[in-house]
Amino acid sequence: QTRETLLEVNNIEVVYNHVILVLKGVSLNVPKGGITALLGGNGAGKTTTLKAISALLQSERGEVTKGSVKYRGEDVHHADPADLVRKGVIQVMEGRHCFEHLTVEENLLTGYYTRKSGKAEMMSDLEKVYAYFPRLKERRRSQAGYTSGGEQQMVAIGRAMMAKPETILLDEPSMGLAPQLVEEIFGIVKDLNEREGVTFLLAEQNTNVALRFAHYGYILESGRVVMDGPAADLRENQDVKEFYLGMS
Ligand code: ATP
Repeated sequence: QTRETLLEVNNIEVVYNHVILVLKGVSLNVPKGGITALLGGNGAGKTTTLKAISALLQSERGEVTKGSVKYRGEDVHHADPADLVRKGVIQVMEGRHCFEHLTVEENLLTGYYTRKSGKAEMMSDLEKVYAYFPRLKERRRSQAGYTSGGEQQMVAIGRAMMAKPETILLDEPSMGLAPQLVEEIFGIVKDLNEREGVTFLLAEQNTNVALRFAHYGYILESGRVVMDGPAADLRENQDVKEFYLGMS
């Protein structure tokens, strides 16, 4: 079926430090209500693509020198990140980035800052996050810096949920996590997608797990999309099996 496109990346080039061309014309579409995966090896340009969308490149001396990024048809690549949050897009960065000295619950509440509704709604949204992540409820008074890598990833996603986003850009959710936790995190992403209708664009090196949970995938190599298609087709593709799934 055809779905409304929320995010449209059209032929973008990204240059770091005025000279290093890292994205060489990347295009992709993120449909409303879907889980779209951005795949590829180390250094392929996945993180750079997410940062180009969320306007987080500036702080790293990167800039979009060509092409466009549109959200609901509106140009966003010169928007500041806070503006994009107000439009409904939030990025969960690689490496999780919790506030280590705050408790788990305080971290979650920081996700609420862009919203104007009152405390009652904030508390009910917090309970909703805890329903998805019971482990965070158990650990709500712990200092985030002392929780495990998996719990910190949950905090990062939970904090994003507190902003009630329409779309979450999720960078390497599996990074550094044991296989069982990776399954758990992806399972929650799937639930959020199905039950809350959250749209996801996720960057992931773990092709295997990403293609099991995503609906559609784009494979990046050296700053270019080399293949894209429905996840089920990519899983069966001979090249994908050989180069990315580690089984020929
Ligand atoms: P990873 O999984 O390692 O994050 P990736 O696919 O997300 O890989 P990027 O992080 O987007 O890849 O990096 C793409 C290329 O851009 C790499 O060659 C990297 O060295 C380079 N790069 C990334 N950030 C910068 C920067 N701030 N300045 C210069 N080059 C950068």
